[in-house]
Formats: sequence, structure tokens, C-alpha cells
Amino acid sequence: MLAPGFTDYHVHTPLCRHAEGWPVEFAQKALELGLAEIGFSDHNPMSAAFDDWRMLREELPRYFESVEAARAAAPALPIRLGLEVDYLPQTEAWWEELRSSAPWDYWIGSVHYLPDGTEVDHPKYISRHRETDPELIWSAYWQAYVECIRSGWFDFVAHPDLPKKFGYRPKGDLRRFYEPAIQALLDTGVAYEINTAGLRKDCRELYPAREFVELARAAGVPVLINSDAHAVAELGAGFREAVGLLRDCGYAETVRFERGKKIRVPLPE
Ligand code: ZN
Ligand code: FE
Ligand code: FE
Ligand code: ZN
Repeated sequence: MLAPGFTDYHVHTPLCRHAEGWPVEFAQKALELGLAEIGFSDHNPMSAAFDDWRMLREELPRYFESVEAARAAAPALPIRLGLEVDYLPQTEAWWEELRSSAPWDYWIGSVHYLPDGTEVDHPKYISRHRETDPELIWSAYWQAYVECIRSGWFDFVAHPDLPKKFGYRPKGDLRRFYEPAIQALLDTGVAYEINTAGLRKDCRELYPAREFVELARAAGVPVLINSDAHAVAELGAGFREAVGLLRDCGYAETVRFERGKKIRVPLPE
């Protein structure tokens, strides 16, 4: 059991082809953990075939049905409908269509693709992290991340310092990458997540690093804690560590989302 009041809004389903556990199973686990709410946020479909780690457009109805089935199975648990959307500027027309296709509670903005078409977190590109100056990868990533925040499409953004996943980081003070992102969050009112999946990757730390959280807290940027679960056992994982970091940095509030409305609530203990 977790302390009362936690939510987990970053949860995947088998429709993305690299996760296991259907929403009904996650809902059961959420009740066991004592989560106050959960939300599904599978990788968004594209308008046409794109890569092998997301649902197809024709599968969207199944996604909605699977979330409805979880709501029916756990009527006491608020279950939100979200989407983890890859920020790719050329797909806006499709996003319009997608946006109007369901009563979304929130959209999460993510940068997995760099402008050169490589995926910053995909194991098939791990050698690129070894062979390229991390400075170049981080610069490209954070520039895209700022654009993602400023695009106006998203309620919060995912795993801020994702390029550290395999343990490669530029030298020196990394706050130079964080500051423009935090300014963009401040300007737009977009929130960010503490994503506990980093604890399970080679970098062995939360996304984002403490320095990001300190700067964001000082700027008054809203935050929420998510697991990015791709399996039922990962739901709520690492939440004690995450809330400890937030409290250490001075946070006393988190946010929830309902139909795109941001609701401030006290941070759980
Ligand atoms: Zn995924
Ligand atoms: Fe992601
Ligand atoms: Fe995710
Ligand atoms: Zn993710």
C-alpha cells in the first residue's frame, strides 16, 4: 500500500506492442496499492504506419473499450483517459482529428524522436550514445522538448531528461539544458512529470534529475509523479523515492487532470 492520495497517469497497454497488462488488470493493482486515481496514456497512433511501438489508428476503439472495461470493473476508482503523444511537428492535422475523437482527460507530450529521425531512448540506437558527443544529442533533444512544451498541445510533458537513459550525459553543469525548458513550462502553464522508469534503466535515477526539480520548484512549475508502467508490477513503482525528492525540493502540491482541467491537490506524504 502507498500513502493515500497518489495518482499514476502514465500507464501503457498491450496495444503499443511492448507492454503487458490490460487496463482492468492495472485497475485491480491500483486498488491494491491504494491509488486515488489512475490514467492510461498509451503511445499515440499516427495517421499512417510509422514504427512498431504504438497502436495503429484502427486500434483506437479497442483502446477506448479497454479503458471503459476497467471503469466498469472498478467503479470506485477514477480512471482517466490520456495519451502519450510523440512531438513531431508535421503531424498537427492528425492531432486535430485525434483530439476530437474522445473525451481526453490529458495529453502527455513526449520527445522520443530527434529531428534526425533517431529515437533517443531506443536500445537499437545505444551505440549512437557511445559514439556521439552527448552534448550534441542533448542540445537537439532539449530544443525539441522546448518546442513540445510551447506547442500548446499538452497538459504535461514526460520524462524530461530522457537522453540520460543509458547513462551518457554531457560534462559540466546540466542546468544549462534545463533552464529553457523550465522557462517554457512557466510561460505556458504546462506541468512536468517525475517519471520513475528512470530508476529501472541504466541511469538508475528518476527523470528528471534533482537540479531540474529544484529549478522548477523555485519557478513554481506544477509537477506530478508517474511510473510509465509497461507492466502491472510497475504501477506506482518508485513513488516513495519520487515524493521524497519533491518534498526535499520544497514541493507541497501536485496536480490532477480531468477533461483537460488542471486541479491542484496536496502532495501525498
Ligand atoms: Zn513505451
Ligand atoms: Fe515515453
Ligand atoms: Fe510512456
Ligand atoms: Zn514514456
